[in-house]
Amino acid sequence: VSRCKMSIRSSSVSMAAAPMLTKLQQDCATPLPVLRNVAASMSEDIRAGLAVDGGSDLKMILSYVDSLPSGDEKGLFYALDLGGTNFRVLRVELGGKDKRVIAIESDQVSIPQELMSATSEELFDFIASALANFAHKGGNFPGKKGEIGFTFSFPVKQTSIDSGILIKWTKGFAVSGTAGKDVVACLNEAMDRKGIDMRVSALVNDTVATLAGARYWDDDVMVAVILGTGTNACYVERMDCIPKLQGEFSPSGRTIVNLEWGAFSKGLPLTVFDRDMDAASINPGEQIFEKTISGMYLGEIARRALLHMAEEGSLFGKSVPEKLSMPFVLGTPDLSTMQQDGTKDLHTVGSVLYNVAGVESNLSSRKIVLEVCDTIVKRAARLAGAGIVGILQKIEEDTKDAIFGKRTVVAMDGGLYERYPQYRRYLKEAVAELLGPETSQNIVIEHSKDGSGIGAALLAATNSKYGRNL
Ligand code: BGC
Ligand code: MG
Repeated sequence: VSRCKMSIRSSSVSMAAAPMLTKLQQDCATPLPVLRNVAASMSEDIRAGLAVDGGSDLKMILSYVDSLPSGDEKGLFYALDLGGTNFRVLRVELGGKDKRVIAIESDQVSIPQELMSATSEELFDFIASALANFAHKGGNFPGKKGEIGFTFSFPVKQTSIDSGILIKWTKGFAVSGTAGKDVVACLNEAMDRKGIDMRVSALVNDTVATLAGARYWDDDVMVAVILGTGTNACYVERMDCIPKLQGEFSPSGRTIVNLEWGAFSKGLPLTVFDRDMDAASINPGEQIFEKTISGMYLGEIARRALLHMAEEGSLFGKSVPEKLSMPFVLGTPDLSTMQQDGTKDLHTVGSVLYNVAGVESNLSSRKIVLEVCDTIVKRAARLAGAGIVGILQKIEEDTKDAIFGKRTVVAMDGGLYERYPQYRRYLKEAVAELLGPETSQNIVIEHSKDGSGIGAALLAATNSKYGRNL
């Protein structure tokens, strides 16, 4: 008798949450017309941002990278990579056409939470120290300064290939005193304080470094996209398609433009959970596309939806698990882990819920949790796919038959793309739906693993202060 009661209660528990799930799925739906509209708005915002600064949500930042790696690059170069979650230092030995990358060494440290709201000096001292430790291990090479490709993955208004002003922080960073300053000058000052004699030859966004790194191996790469803690894209543009350049042309006639697409906002299907998360964030009203599709936020959106279902729909029984009220307890990696669960009783889902959020669940509530994850992730990935198509269509329309009629590669990187199989699949499906079977055969969406490290070193080489005989 008691067993019977149990099962009635446990199924009625999730019954109450079921209509809430349906509502979430409706609010997050991304049918083809929604995706088409997002893609078209992306193209439009790209054009408006290329016309004048401030022309749209998209900053369309000129990278000053107007010659891509050729393969001839030679010498020893450093790369620094300050992104969302980790800080990396690399040393890359480039051997020219035949040998290519002879050796890579690297160190990675996770960025301490408190540093994200420290002062600018503290942050750059941390970077310089990590660089010093790493450089010492390798021994110095006499007579020459180490040259650095500095990948700085935040919106920077480039003023040259080796200087640029931080517009604002993203991805939860709130370091004081950096916005409005040249980040290369900040790094140089910190290196002076630590007695490090190195110089930055190239300052690049991570998308730009990824594009350069991928181009080194494959001439057909035209676009690079990062889907990690944050998100962004860049592509190779013709200079005569950039009105705001006003007559500055390079020999190649092309340059890489960094969209800063995290700031895109048009036509996105948003829910009350997105709006609440945005309002509670340190940058309300900003980075709306990023908040909908990138790794920093997907777990949090799901947590908010689950909390609502627990409170209003008794998803996890009568009481609401306390930990579920803590912002960001549920991470996007947790969603991915749960979605890989192949067991009949959804054992992994149960243990993630328990270990991460102190939630006791049964099979029917686990199923709902999985549906919630899938809904948030599907929306994110499909919107990312629509963004990519927006870029491709813009290139195609402005330079007739430039890319759709031949092999064109989109280089992808970032932990979300790398470690969330469902995300990858949904993204590719959306791109194929939007482009149709014929065109999508030509569009190759390819993981360029760690392309940005080599890419930054390559750009340091291309822009070397010492010429080519280093
Ligand atoms: C930053 C971009 C960066 C992206 C991916 C965003 O938050 O604004 O500059 O490329 O994250 O790291
Ligand atoms: Mg990164």
